[in-house]
Amino acid sequence: MQINGNYRNLQPNYLFSTVTKRVAEERRRHPGKPIYRLGVGDVTLPLCPAVIGALGKAVEEMSAAETFRGYGPEQGYDFLRERIQQYYAAFGVSLDLEEIFVSDGANSDLGNILDLFSKENTALIPDPVYPVYLDTNTMDGRKVLFMDGGEENDFLPLPDPSVKADLIYLCSPGNPTGAVYTRAMLQSWVDYARARGAVILFDAAYESFVTGDLPHSIYEVEGAKECAIEISSLSKTAGFTGMRCGYTVVPRTLEREGMSLNRMWLRRQTTKFNGVSYVVQRGAAAVFTPEGRRQTGEATAFYRENAALIAAALRELGVWFTGGVCSPYIWMACPEGMGSWEFFDLLLREAGVAGVPGAGFGRNGEGYFRLTGFGSREETCQAIAALQELYRARGLAG
Ligand code: PLP
Repeated sequence: MQINGNYRNLQPNYLFSTVTKRVAEERRRHPGKPIYRLGVGDVTLPLCPAVIGALGKAVEEMSAAETFRGYGPEQGYDFLRERIQQYYAAFGVSLDLEEIFVSDGANSDLGNILDLFSKENTALIPDPVYPVYLDTNTMDGRKVLFMDGGEENDFLPLPDPSVKADLIYLCSPGNPTGAVYTRAMLQSWVDYARARGAVILFDAAYESFVTGDLPHSIYEVEGAKECAIEISSLSKTAGFTGMRCGYTVVPRTLEREGMSLNRMWLRRQTTKFNGVSYVVQRGAAAVFTPEGRRQTGEATAFYRENAALIAAALRELGVWFTGGVCSPYIWMACPEGMGSWEFFDLLLREAGVAGVPGAGFGRNGEGYFRLTGFGSREETCQAIAALQELYRARGLAG
């Protein structure tokens, strides 16, 4: 018997456990001292009334033999896929129902989708980025190349024609950077992928935070249906982090080596996945009703306003940052060349503010720091005041 030895190559991920440990130590050292959490990556507002109502009704249905549901379609119920189809139509993207697959969240599909691709492929991953892309490819033993994000490209790396990659990960709006690709930038990725025969895995988990003319979906770009799979989630869109529901789009026109990736994914899902629970899918469908859109939109706007308040304070202090507009995340430069963890400790000790050190998201995250708008308004404002006070008292320059 042999285990999957690739697991030996995974880097231990101590980011959030170390953050929690250091915050707990600070509390122990200074009981009663307020600590403001400005690094929360989870939603904090409850599910909206439209979703709660739909969930309640679905639970009722499960109590009577006539309306009880057992195994459902592996791809998801049509009542939900039709809603998702209409949602995409509002961005000018036309999808067939067969192209939409309901999932139990983006994370599962980010890992599962790799079943479709040879382990001989090379994956191209932004640095810094959501760590799941690297870990899932490392578990498979796939070769990974990194593309550098930095202040010079606003943490939005663009294709380098000399780089040979087969699987390309893009996350927009990005976690941890909050940076958003424009349509023209996505077009250059689609052109690169099509020229190479590569496949883009587009993580749209934060698309609902996008405002204005920026793209929500990679399919808003010409040619994307020939080269891209989109993985999305209701976690941040509708507070579904604990409910577990998302969706993946695999276009029918996406083929490689004479095989339809759409058919391959259907085969994979019907074999290895038995769908998302009926009750959760009813709740998810309610997210896309006019009432659900309005209510979830209010929650998203609330988080976005928190992020905008943080962004305004950083701007006033002269601190370099990205994000904070179409995203719950703000990605700021640490002051005076400080390392991420050094700044974490200073901020926690002297201002009582807990954020997330950028170094946890990749080599290029060193020297940067992630703040989030997911907290309460009160805590966010208290944290901002404490941060401003620290910069002023210490004479810190951005
Ligand atoms: N993709 C990104 C970029 C994320 O930040 C997250 C969660 O934080 C996910 C995917 C996971 O989403 P889900 O809760 O749907 O698994």
